[in-house]
Amino acid sequence: MKIAVLSGKGGTGKTAVSVSLAALIPGSQYVDCDVEEPNGYIFLRPRIGKSISVELLVPTVDVQKCTGCGLCARVCQFNAIAVVRGKVLVFPEICHYCGACTIACPEGAIKEVPRQIGVVEISQDGAFIHGRLNTGESTGVPIVDELKRNLKEDAHPILDCPPGVSCSVVHAIEGCDYCILVTEPTPFGLYDLEIAVKLMERMGIPFGVVTNKASEGVDLIDEFCEKRGIDVLVKLPFSVEVAKAYSQGILPIDVDDEWRARLALLYEKVKRGSNK
Ligand code: SF4
Ligand code: SF4
Repeated sequence: MKIAVLSGKGGTGKTAVSVSLAALIPGSQYVDCDVEEPNGYIFLRPRIGKSISVELLVPTVDVQKCTGCGLCARVCQFNAIAVVRGKVLVFPEICHYCGACTIACPEGAIKEVPRQIGVVEISQDGAFIHGRLNTGESTGVPIVDELKRNLKEDAHPILDCPPGVSCSVVHAIEGCDYCILVTEPTPFGLYDLEIAVKLMERMGIPFGVVTNKASEGVDLIDEFCEKRGIDVLVKLPFSVEVAKAYSQGILPIDVDDEWRARLALLYEKVKRGSNK
């Protein structure tokens, strides 16, 4: 069963929930898809055994063959290639590696060369895997795709998604059996939850909500979920102990029995609600 953990916004406790689940579920594989800022390793402390370079093909121009006709710049939808006074300039960071310029060049002056945009690292036991996108790169999607190619067949992957509902999130949750949406009971939390719910409905993946930093009684997340017929799977209470432990790289379930019990309950509910 593949479980994705996501949130409409950062700072809701998505990683705290993901790493806690990974530590609780026997035979799980933690997959950190937040490739711009992976931090699950701080809590799970894996021994990295394998590193895979993630590369894309970007154009390079043979000046001997180029006539400066400008066709390559005209077909590029991303302004990643320009022709200035007959000289071709390529901007690899904004290239979307579509290959259109190579096809369009009438002189065969463009060839594609590999360029590293980040890495995927896998622990020695395969139970941990994360991606790192190089600073300044425009998209983490190829790294998320590489992460998904390295899921363990016999494991229960827990995909810790990037915040928001970007292309990287869509790629991460594709093919998952259940999505956990982590939110907090604030107007900002509700606003971003509504956007995440729309994505779930569009993709047709079973999902439920976890409210973090919850206080006693009915809150605005409960009211929204009740109106929309969405399951609030568990509510995680605000805890100073958990906040302190988190800042020191300690798993919340190791310092708070209430968190441990509610995370175990969360897993049981996810199993019941998933496609598998
Ligand atoms: S590969 Fe595509 S995005 Fe990159 S420079 Fe060529 S046309 Fe533009
Ligand atoms: S299309 Fe080819 S020949 Fe024309 S400017 Fe671009 S690289 Fe040069």
